[in-house]
Amino acid sequence: MHDLSDPIISLNGLGPKAQEKLNAIGIYQLEHLLFHLPSRYQNKTRFTALDAAQVGNEILVELTIDRVEELATRQRQLLCYLSDDENRTLLLRFFHFNQHQKQQLTRGDLIQCFGEVKIGRDGLEIHHPEYRLISKGQPTLIEKTLSPIYPLTAGIHQPQMRKWINAALEALEKTVLIDNFHPTKRGKEILATNSMPTLKQALHTLHHPKVDDNIDQIANFRHISQQRLIIEELCAQQLSLLRLKSERKNKICNIFKISHTLANQLLGNLGFALTNAQQRSIDDINTDLGSNHPMLRLLQGDVGSGKTIVAVFTCLQAVENGFQTAVMAPTEILAHQHLHGFSDYLEPLGIRTALLTGSQNAAERRTQLALVKSGEAQVVIGTHALFQEAVEFEKLGLVIIDEQHKFGVHQRLSLAQKAHNTPHQLVMTATPIPRSLTMSAYADLDSSIIDELPPGRSPIQTIALASNKKDKVLEKIRQVCTEGNQVYWVCTLIEESEALRAESAINTHQYLQENLPELSVVLIHGKMNKQEKNEIMTRFSAGKIHILVATTVIEVGVNVPNASLMVIENAERLGLAQLHQLRGRVGRGFDASICILMYQPPLSNNAIERLDILRQTNDGFRIANKDLELRGPGEILGTQQTGVANMKIANIVRDGYLLKQVNYYAAEFLQLNENEQQALINRWITDDKAQYANT
Ligand code: ADP
Ligand code: MG
Repeated sequence: MHDLSDPIISLNGLGPKAQEKLNAIGIYQLEHLLFHLPSRYQNKTRFTALDAAQVGNEILVELTIDRVEELATRQRQLLCYLSDDENRTLLLRFFHFNQHQKQQLTRGDLIQCFGEVKIGRDGLEIHHPEYRLISKGQPTLIEKTLSPIYPLTAGIHQPQMRKWINAALEALEKTVLIDNFHPTKRGKEILATNSMPTLKQALHTLHHPKVDDNIDQIANFRHISQQRLIIEELCAQQLSLLRLKSERKNKICNIFKISHTLANQLLGNLGFALTNAQQRSIDDINTDLGSNHPMLRLLQGDVGSGKTIVAVFTCLQAVENGFQTAVMAPTEILAHQHLHGFSDYLEPLGIRTALLTGSQNAAERRTQLALVKSGEAQVVIGTHALFQEAVEFEKLGLVIIDEQHKFGVHQRLSLAQKAHNTPHQLVMTATPIPRSLTMSAYADLDSSIIDELPPGRSPIQTIALASNKKDKVLEKIRQVCTEGNQVYWVCTLIEESEALRAESAINTHQYLQENLPELSVVLIHGKMNKQEKNEIMTRFSAGKIHILVATTVIEVGVNVPNASLMVIENAERLGLAQLHQLRGRVGRGFDASICILMYQPPLSNNAIERLDILRQTNDGFRIANKDLELRGPGEILGTQQTGVANMKIANIVRDGYLLKQVNYYAAEFLQLNENEQQALINRWITDDKAQYANT
């Protein structure tokens, strides 16, 4: 007899190969099989009369064999003609068969078959039905409950999956399963009036629903048995993140003594006052830095809200406490931007910076590495190159990560390892994260939100324009440049290669040069070398270029306040978050800005929705919510980012209506003892392979 905690390899007929395949989809123990739920069901609980059969439906019938025939066409076929008492007929068609099978199908015999009804030349057909020869004593196909169809992974077949899952269900019968929704040994019932099914009931219902269970509800994930599991899964997800957070709280860290000397100097140099939201975020950060656990704070702020300056103030605290800061950017261009941005603020205060990127030559790199190692460079800015083993810090105490979505959790951790004690971490993201995602994916982070833009910005006006109206755009460009402002023109061809993308940008560049000979039009694209790109960006920043024609390389973080017009070609092909990011490159100065979304008609409904929401609002949170609705969390977070993207049952967009209950239970579950909490987490979060390494 099996135990639910047994490794799946202990099941009959399950060898190392199948084990590996199942492990890959998060199934390690029998218990995990229980949560591998059917994607749909077959109804073999009753026979369907042939005159009630509908093409496209799966039916179970019991009929008599009239005739069997082998067709010697190019592809051999076996045809088996069946009829019922009223001479209604059905044809079974087999493209793969053997002689034994053919001989078994005997005229006059009673046969049961199950399959999808198709329509052929002579009426109803089923191809390759599942069948039983009743006259020959084979057992009936009739089932008491609906039959599950499980999602499969390559190399595993439906009957195997069923057999193994049934074994797990049998083991479930013999087990006292920790069921936190029901009276616990502490004698306390978690939900006072508990209308929820028990975990056992819920699992049985979902694997083998009865005919009178509401299948439509199940198909829509609104069945109470599913709600029961969804709530538990979302709770487990939150619980695990909250535990990570509390584990971190126990780590040794460097307590910073908060000082305002450098901060006040910087404030004096700024030439503007901080917004309340910026000040609040800085206060949050200072509180973290001065407490005795390491900071892990998410700083959310819409594009242009002024996150960089908040990061700079954070650096100052590290400097005053004698620690180095690593600032990590997702792209080379952004690393250079940050280097300029940060040094402009830091150098007047006598603080030295260093840069580490992949494109540096050996000599440059050596110099920079030396600065980092000696501690001379107090703030080190870079790309992924910061992770490399050769990089040694003298005394790293703070890690700032910009644009969180481009990095995985693991990269974040590996940089943290370069510090002696757990460093403080500030994670900045310009893509606002919907609340439901924050709870499920970022519950381990504290969060500060910059929810106001610096004063004096006029909102960006967004216009959608069909691509045959380029004349109007040219006119607008002339006007903008005459007024002394600059223009971004973004070419997008997202599904093609970088080479094709560059080509389309080259064509546009030429078109603009020909039509706007009086203006300086410069092209930047991903095929250029990094130095070339950096030079162009520097010239654009300095106002020496009127129009920058770019592929989406400028998507993230570039800051040129004098640019006031953004033209995005083929806007209908881009996702909402990306469009919002691109648009955020303008509207950074005092001049009224415009974003023109050019599209190729006709637009799909989804594209209409995307362009509409952008025209209606500049509010990143509204846009992020819409994005989550249109795309789902997996694509927003990136699949490897967190477990949220590959949850077993829950889907935070679809199941958002359950979040209130999730919150309620998650708070209750936090009161459970250590073992109970761990059991709950192990049940649901199985993408951590190391955990099962010994089983
Ligand atoms: P993001 O949040 O997108 O990273 P940045 O930090 O790049 O935004 O800031 C955008 C622009 O706003 C910069 O030019 C910056 O100097 C300016 N800025 C930031 N804070 C303020 C403020 N409080 N008042 C006026 N301008 C500000
Ligand atoms: Mg930024």
